[in-house]
Amino acid sequence: MKLIKLFATLALTLAVCLSLEAKPKIRIIATGGTIAGVSSTSASSAYTAGQVGIQTLLDAVPQILNLAEVDGEQLVNIGSQDMNDEVWLKLAKRVNQLLNEEGYDGVVITHGTDTMEETAYFLNLTVKSDKPVVLAGSMRPSNAISADGPANLYNAVAAAVSPACKGMGVLCCMNNQLLDAKTVIKTHTIDCDTFEGGPSGIIGYVYNGEAYILQTPNNKHTVNSIFDVSKITKFPKVGIVYGYANASPLPMQAFVDANFDGIVLAGVGDGNFYKDVFEVAVKAQNQGIQIVRSSRCPTGPTCLNSEVDDEKYHFVASLSHNPQKARILLMLALTKTHDWQEIQQFFKEY
Ligand code: GLU
Repeated sequence: MKLIKLFATLALTLAVCLSLEAKPKIRIIATGGTIAGVSSTSASSAYTAGQVGIQTLLDAVPQILNLAEVDGEQLVNIGSQDMNDEVWLKLAKRVNQLLNEEGYDGVVITHGTDTMEETAYFLNLTVKSDKPVVLAGSMRPSNAISADGPANLYNAVAAAVSPACKGMGVLCCMNNQLLDAKTVIKTHTIDCDTFEGGPSGIIGYVYNGEAYILQTPNNKHTVNSIFDVSKITKFPKVGIVYGYANASPLPMQAFVDANFDGIVLAGVGDGNFYKDVFEVAVKAQNQGIQIVRSSRCPTGPTCLNSEVDDEKYHFVASLSHNPQKARILLMLALTKTHDWQEIQQFFKEY
């Protein structure tokens, strides 16, 4: 009789253990943005970003607890127009710590949408783990009619627990879609359907709490990236100069005078300069300030040695990087080398 009781107890314990099978451990790092924004009226057009804390965001989506063991931390609470190197460094170091030392299976970062693509690309080059790292935001503030934040956060956690998202580099999850850090771009100032994945399209989507991957990013990232911020406290200074008809050379000259280490041209067409700006760029390059040619065109590459003789001037062509992504890659590249050909190679690989 005692033996039967013992077996019954063991069987019950086993059943309980199986039913309590450990869920993936996900940390949500909140940084602010519209997802944490509050509108003073029922219309969502007037609001302040970065108002509510991480717990309020989590409380809005209790269903997340069905997907994962989730906890949160508030890194900063800002509109992403105020994102900067200091926060990026903190964020990259924290993500590496959570994934490599604290046993987390994935990280979700809530972020404003204005510079989400830049943070995603920065992390794509500096996170040292193949575990999922997913950024989510919203276009409508947390108390707006039909706020999009809760669904985006839920979907981001679904992506972060998904084995399909492992090894995909840093992803953005917005409007049911998964976009990769290299190609993602915000295309619309106010619509919920604002993010696009460039010419190759989205990486996947999330539906009913399940992530589906359609294609794999083909650039180097995360565990295959040479860039390491663990000992970095400050980045080289890199600015962007916008190209237009009859452009003034003054912005480019101002960066030179302020001892910037690199300048990215958001040039016209295939990364072309207005002649007065070109003159300053040649002088800047000759005095060791690396010039990268990119384009203000939303699509298409900026090609090496096209209308501009890059070999002659030692300019780097950004290839498939838009100006804001080129700025990040140049900033990290300059922590490794000042050789323009090596930097050009980084633009081919990353
Ligand atoms: N400017 C805000 C930000 O980027 C609003 C954009 C948003 O989050 O949707 O944080």
